Amino acid sequence: MTHPYRIQMHETGGPEVLKVEQFEPRKPGEGEVLVRQSASGLNFIDTYHRTGLYPVRMPFTPGQEGAGIVQEVGEGVTSLKPGDAVAYLGAGTYASHFTGPVERMLALPAEVPPQEAAAVLLKGLTAWCLLFEVRAIQAGDTALVWAPVGGVGSLLVPWAASLGARVIAVTSTEEKAEKARALGASDVIVGYEGVSRKVRDLTDGRGVDVAYDSVGKISAEESLSSLRTAGWFVTYGNASGPVDPIPPGRLAQGGSLVMTRPVLFSFIQTPESLVRGASLLFSALKLGTIKADIGQRFPLTDAAKAHEAIESGKTTGATVLIP
Ligand code: NDP
Repeated sequence: MTHPYRIQMHETGGPEVLKVEQFEPRKPGEGEVLVRQSASGLNFIDTYHRTGLYPVRMPFTPGQEGAGIVQEVGEGVTSLKPGDAVAYLGAGTYASHFTGPVERMLALPAEVPPQEAAAVLLKGLTAWCLLFEVRAIQAGDTALVWAPVGGVGSLLVPWAASLGARVIAVTSTEEKAEKARALGASDVIVGYEGVSRKVRDLTDGRGVDVAYDSVGKISAEESLSSLRTAGWFVTYGNASGPVDPIPPGRLAQGGSLVMTRPVLFSFIQTPESLVRGASLLFSALKLGTIKADIGQRFPLTDAAKAHEAIESGKTTGATVLIP
């Protein structure tokens, strides 16, 4: 489409509620920047907005991250100029154009092209916050990682391994297990049955120091049962549905366990914290510690097909939508 367009929802529901509509991008106001988007990253949270699991006001344009080329800057903007490549987190990025505040725009290093940035910004910052902010991972830690070859997982596994952690991954198929090993997992459990028993076998009965669990409903109890005394249950996603309530007594029973439910946005509220996380992320990309693995590319007009793909659990790496 040549005219600016976006994906708009007027009701919650299946992928079919994602409609393509023309729109007039907002002119950048004071301190704002208008970007011609190169790509929008697809994240599982977009499906929660679509289904209503996380309520939003209608009409609604999904999308939490994007990247592209600055087209126009508003009054008072001196740090960016038309032609600069930027990436950002922001609401409503399923669109050909995006207008947002300059203090949330990250200038991209030459080594990180916009499509790759859109693929990894939110997922990579999530991996950063899990490994550095929520609980600092230590060399010698053993970490259990669910969905190790997914959007977040495929960044979390090599990053944790590069910091000296032993990664035990859990995934659904042999094919994904192969990929998890290539990413740096030392051991891979295939299938969701009996995970904690297998973890005990792999750790001489001790259990893991930390479990990074994005699967949620069907994995939470296995994660808790896989922990060592005073281990950390980091439950950060709901790919299989929201986690059932866990009483404090369950943490006592496991031996003084720690449970946390982190949300990336709590850790990047100030421009300084966003830049701190992004700097480490871009350095890890430049060093090759982690890679922008774009497993799927969809035209933005096929956003509904992209949602079907990620919800089917068949995607690997990141998925990007190209306007
Ligand atoms: P993924 O690419 O990881 O896709 C989800 C994966 O979960 C699947 O590939 C599959 O991996 C596994 N899975 C297990 N059961 C199911 C199921 N019933 N349906 C679908 N998938 C299932 O997605 P993302 O990397 O985008 O996100 C992962 C999770 O992390 C999401 O829940 C997301 O909301 C959360 N998240 C949380 C953030 C936060 O701030 N707390 C920030 C970013 C993401 P496998 O086959 O290997 O088991």
